[in-house]
Amino acid sequence: MDWLMDLLVIRGKLLGIEWHFWKIVGWLGNLTFTSRFLVQWYATERRKQVIVPAAFWWLSLAGAFLLFCYALFYQRDSVFIFAYAFTWIPYIRNLIIHKRHLAAHHDCPGCHWPCPPPSRYCSQCGGRLPDH
Ligand SMILES: [Zn+2]
Repeated sequence: MDWLMDLLVIRGKLLGIEWHFWKIVGWLGNLTFTSRFLVQWYATERRKQVIVPAAFWWLSLAGAFLLFCYALFYQRDSVFIFAYAFTWIPYIRNLIIHKRHLAAHHDCPGCHWPCPPPSRYCSQCGGRLPDH
């Protein structure tokens, strides 16, 4: 395990970083914000089409909030503050649209699969959906 400590501890500091409360907030923001790409990439590869899951917008919102707090209360840098000050608007708008789209789904009477609004036939069992 000494090799691991040699790799992680640089000049007496974990990853060479001076750790304190705001560094933890900033790095949590970075990890949260970056993880959204992995979530989106995984969803896209799984369906073999571009998919942006709701988790992407939640991770964007949480990561941007943490980075905004870091920028505002610790860095106090106008460029950094401005970069994250308004990103919540499209994130929340996309979450609202996502929620409305899910609410507009109709369950298939045959297999109970939730079918998206314009569908006339169930994508799971092929059964005809009732007119709405
Ligand atoms: Zn069905």
